[in-house]
Amino acid sequence: MERPVRVRFAPSPTGALHIGGLRTALYNYLFAKQHNGALILRIEDTDQARYVPEAESYINDSLNWADIIPDESPEKGGAFGPYKQSERKAIYHEYIQKLLDTGWAYYAFDTAEELDEMRKRLKAAKANALTYNGVTRNQMKNSLTLPKEAVEEKLKNGDAYVVRFKVPLKEDIRINDLVRGWVMVHSTAIDDKVIMKSDGMPTYHLANVVDDHLMKISHVIRGEEWLPSAPLHVLLYRAFGWEDSMPQFAHLPLLLKPDGNGKLSKRDGDKHGFPVFPIDGSFLDAHGNDEKFNGFREAGYLPEALINFLALLGWNPGTDQELFTRDELINEFALDRINKAGAKFDIEKAKWFNQQYIRKMDPEELAMAFAKRIESKGISLPKDRIREIAVCLHDRIEFLDDLWVEGDFFFATPDYYDEKVVKKRWTASLVEALSIFAEKLSETENVSNVEAKSILEGILGEKGMGLGQIMQGLRVAITGKGGGPDLMKIIEILGGHEVNLRIAKAVELLTVKEEKDD
Ligand code: GLU
Repeated sequence: MERPVRVRFAPSPTGALHIGGLRTALYNYLFAKQHNGALILRIEDTDQARYVPEAESYINDSLNWADIIPDESPEKGGAFGPYKQSERKAIYHEYIQKLLDTGWAYYAFDTAEELDEMRKRLKAAKANALTYNGVTRNQMKNSLTLPKEAVEEKLKNGDAYVVRFKVPLKEDIRINDLVRGWVMVHSTAIDDKVIMKSDGMPTYHLANVVDDHLMKISHVIRGEEWLPSAPLHVLLYRAFGWEDSMPQFAHLPLLLKPDGNGKLSKRDGDKHGFPVFPIDGSFLDAHGNDEKFNGFREAGYLPEALINFLALLGWNPGTDQELFTRDELINEFALDRINKAGAKFDIEKAKWFNQQYIRKMDPEELAMAFAKRIESKGISLPKDRIREIAVCLHDRIEFLDDLWVEGDFFFATPDYYDEKVVKKRWTASLVEALSIFAEKLSETENVSNVEAKSILEGILGEKGMGLGQIMQGLRVAITGKGGGPDLMKIIEILGGHEVNLRIAKAVELLTVKEEKDD
């Protein structure tokens, strides 16, 4: 039965959105777009103990930056809202009541101590049983064991209770996961999960299933860590009588540490100095600790590059193609080409993507990005000069901020000269040729690269020297470095006067050194 594709990204605002979360959002987005469906953003904030107020805007900012814009969300609204679970309490209560009425759920009045005792007893008996299940529930204080009147009395008195789901005793649960294939679980492996906590809040499982049903979700695409919960979710659909319209599941592989040894964590990012979050963030976590998160955005990644990188972190297009436009990703993404195995996080690959996307930028766009950076440092340069710098550096940078590393000499006279080059190239004849060149240039402020080259060739011709003998020395005098972009272009950008000054400075500083050495 074909049904409209409606998928959801359902983060819990308990901290910063991990890069794996952004990948989940991306895969949902690609799948929705491919099928002209809808992407829903649902904020799962039922866990009040772990709620972090700033986390929601962090999620929104991250999605906006990555240009993953949901069709329905708390901000945008939609026909199936509200999209924040804390605003849907009454809905959950109605459905919890339905489960209580049909015998699929029961009240449990056990105190924390009583539960603890039970755990100890099970441990002592070396029973591998779950704390609360089809067997142990009979020994506990709940509406299945207590007389009806006692239950009513407790409810009336306002005694603390939770509502538990009554997992059926002998049932097979089969799930045809679109990534992993058939997953089979027996109901004895599932415990009687709490579906409503003593504070009246539903738990994740209940709220998630009720919302997916009410929001007419067709596919649940989420991280592998939720796979163990899926059988319980299927049982909940069964209990509600919704199994026929249950969404299809696709559980995405984990993102692994660079060496493949375990799940990628914030600590890996801190240790290796790479971001594992979309954007920078800093806020108090649920324990009151001030947490700082380093983002790809602030590390200089272009959102398109990060998206392309993330798309391939778990999805295999089946060809060697690596660079995909957004439209290509939308067209070619396929759930059945998602790998089962975890995806190793390779930051070098992310850098490569960034470099490729910078190369794909229009020079005007790059110039604008540079202009922003240059202005923010209080440097004022004409627009066309910035554009020339952009063209010059375009193929040489991985990050926009490499402007300051690769192109530092555009903004300041070098205060360091590559020692190796100086040692090898800084001869008296070179200095003589450079001095003549410098003097000639001082007469022509606006010198083009072609003119500069012909002036240089003229001098070299007279001296009987080749270009190869002078270029590196000239470069080191002007830029301080042994390599870099087209030198004649650099001369054109800096102008004759500046080049003259720089050569004079280098001649003064470096000659003195050479004479001392002699
Ligand atoms: N709120 C869950 C999370 O934080 C959602 C899991 C799901 O997609 O079902 O990841």
